[in-house]
Amino acid sequence: MTAIQVPLAPWACDPARSRGRRHPESPAPTRTEYQRDRDRIVHSTAFRRLVYKTQVFVNHEGDLFRTRLTHSLEVAQLARSIARSLALNEDLVEAISLAHDLGHTPFGHAGQDALNDCMRAHGGFEHNLQSLRVVDCLEERYPDYDGINLTFETREGILKHCARRNAEWLEAREPHGVAWRFLHGGQPGLEAQLCNLADEIAYNAHDIDDGVRSGLVTLTQLREVPLFDRYRHAAEARHPHLARPGGERRLLHEAIRRMLSDQVYDVIDTTRARLAEHTPPSVDAVRALAPLVGFSEGMRAQSQQLKRFLMQALYRHPQVEQTMAAARRVVCELFAAYTAEPRQLPAAQAAQALAGDATQCARTVADFIAGMTDRFAAREHERITGQRLLGG
Ligand code: MG
Repeated sequence: MTAIQVPLAPWACDPARSRGRRHPESPAPTRTEYQRDRDRIVHSTAFRRLVYKTQVFVNHEGDLFRTRLTHSLEVAQLARSIARSLALNEDLVEAISLAHDLGHTPFGHAGQDALNDCMRAHGGFEHNLQSLRVVDCLEERYPDYDGINLTFETREGILKHCARRNAEWLEAREPHGVAWRFLHGGQPGLEAQLCNLADEIAYNAHDIDDGVRSGLVTLTQLREVPLFDRYRHAAEARHPHLARPGGERRLLHEAIRRMLSDQVYDVIDTTRARLAEHTPPSVDAVRALAPLVGFSEGMRAQSQQLKRFLMQALYRHPQVEQTMAAARRVVCELFAAYTAEPRQLPAAQAAQALAGDATQCARTVADFIAGMTDRFAAREHERITGQRLLGG
């Protein structure tokens, strides 16, 4: 038996020519290497936890908002649609998309910022690096090694950003590995570039949806965002009944759907034109060029406008800020409590924290906190401090 493969462009990542896994394995009979990666990610513990981790709204605020799991599925859907049009490797974009947020702390960016502050004296905390750490070190699923032993190309896509200091640390352990480009320049493969952009397209769209659904953002406010307003007008012109009372929800969805489609077409057209100009003969040629997957200049500017709107109207909304301030406190107080008394950790983590120096103790605590779901973090904080800062 052999794995069935669709034809790929010369610039796509070909699983038969993968740079391989850190621990060599023989091929699977029916799946390509990237399909195996995807399957390992879906079966990981960290993936299952994404269902109870949030981005903007904390779980207990409502059941209808995006979680990191549904976000990751939306990213995978968008990235796969685009990948097919560009003859890129759909299995690889699915693997990268599903893994891209595995290292996120509870409570979205507030949790990550708080943990980064707590870890300042011990090398900091960065969620992209943590996602790599999850798949390389923290998952305990195989008899002979830590992590889930993914291919280079999936790991390259997971490590979207990396600070120089962390890149030097990684490069020392894995010469010419996934951190090399952060020290010497260059891009990742096109599948990784695509997932990065699909992430942005997905969260911009679903944060409008969740923002309006929550009542924190109104359709009237969204009139100041040209990218959205254009599709809203188009939707109203085509379906006048949506402008009447009661039509708001369908109007919102129709406008978002049109916006998503146009962004997808824009990425496909722009990237095709760049590929036609450069015709990279291989993935290594892609890595040496400027980024090829992207928006047109006009769409890039409009997407940034939308991001600025969401920052000001939603992410900095007093109600969101209030929840996030409580979330930061939960993370910081948990970190302080565990580092002061590592025996409050589960037995395995306690033994690990007590076996090393202060930095190893702090890293063990950071890994434990980063792995928590929102509700586990809130309950654990309540158990330790006796205070209930967040519901759920
Ligand atoms: Mg994301």
